[in-house]
Amino acid sequence: MRTLVTGGAGFLGSHLCDRLLADGHDVIALDNLFTGSKRNVAHLLDRPRFEFIRHDVVEPILLEVDWVFNLACPASPVHYQYNPVKTVKTSVVGALNMLGLAKRVKARILQASTSEVYGDPQVHPQTEDYWGHVNPIGPRSCYDEGKRVAETLMMDYHRQNKVDTRIVRIFNTYGPRMAVGDGRVISNFIVQALRGEKLTVYGDGKQTRSFCFVDDLIEGLVSLMQYEGADAHEPVNIGSSDERSMNDVVECLGEIIGQKLDVEHRSLPEDDPLRRQPNTGRAKERLGWQPRTSLLDGLRKTTDYFRGAVSVEGAACGDVK
Ligand code: NAD
Ligand code: UDP
Ligand code: UDP
Repeated sequence: MRTLVTGGAGFLGSHLCDRLLADGHDVIALDNLFTGSKRNVAHLLDRPRFEFIRHDVVEPILLEVDWVFNLACPASPVHYQYNPVKTVKTSVVGALNMLGLAKRVKARILQASTSEVYGDPQVHPQTEDYWGHVNPIGPRSCYDEGKRVAETLMMDYHRQNKVDTRIVRIFNTYGPRMAVGDGRVISNFIVQALRGEKLTVYGDGKQTRSFCFVDDLIEGLVSLMQYEGADAHEPVNIGSSDERSMNDVVECLGEIIGQKLDVEHRSLPEDDPLRRQPNTGRAKERLGWQPRTSLLDGLRKTTDYFRGAVSVEGAACGDVK
């Protein structure tokens, strides 16, 4: 099997490359290194079955592969709002190019979509048949609507050109190899705690997310790609059902660090969703998938990683590299 992972030098992409190589695939990681880093795949560069290509998915590319995982797209609000027009292009033109490639070489293709397609949801927990509550003109729209169009393209190439497609709606995922300056809440909190800084809680901290550990997420992606059911092209939520407020996360982290952590409140970003929890019934039923790592265990592993990373990287939390 020859497998292309776009966004392969990113947080999730690099873990996926590790997993596919372990499963015996030849892996091509394609990345423009906007938010990703060669450091994430440095341990793979000598492997004969691994190849890194510096390329932007907005530009067409000719490759011969059996599987495509299309993960290229900045995922942290700080990064995807840095150049919102580019974010839309990456999601839309990137998906179009990868679908064109999949059509040409008859490859199976998985699109990394997101819980953001549900926006600030009015249905809770979110099931895949919920159409969402998304602001089309706000600061998060470049990401949310870009991913919604990517899903539309996947479905249209499936119906029109019989491309073998998969859509995964990923809910907040964290773990080792998130960048120190990524800007998402778990990495920000851990880095701040390790530096002895106050944790920046946006708003009153009562908003919720359901945090999935990266190993569980990768297992879900691979399971969906392997799934052969007649309904395989339908979107599947992958994420944790353990819904927590940001205040809860601060407490869990305090337990791991071994001291009460001070917080500093900042204003809540515009259009920040109030609640988010996946209904993962479809993943469980079709893929036999469910998350296994508790928040406490996952945070422990992630904190261990950041102890090393914080001393290497100098970037401030939330800064754009
Ligand atoms: P990340 O920022 O670490 O990884 C994204 C990777 O894509 C980076 O390596 C970046 O350099 C690369 N990239 C960005 N634009 C590109 C372009 N135009 N051409 C080529 N490469 C490009 O983020 P991540 O958390 O690993 O996210 C991976 C995918 O999963 C993204 O598509 C994201 O939308 C999706 N996702 C992630 C989460 C999460 O919680 N981690 C949640 C929902 C969806
Ligand atoms: N594409 C690509 N690699 C390929 C095949 C296609 O990057 O191996 C791009 C192609 O340049 C086009 C897009 O994918 O911009 C969609 O391709 P498709 O063949 O579906 O559409 P068309 O080229 O007919 O517009
Ligand atoms: N958040 C926070 N402090 C931070 C970064 C984020 O309180 O330093 C909040 C943010 O407002 C949101 C939640 O944490 O309510 C998750 O944010 P993240 O950017 O990780 O993911 P997303 O909003 O895309 O789900």
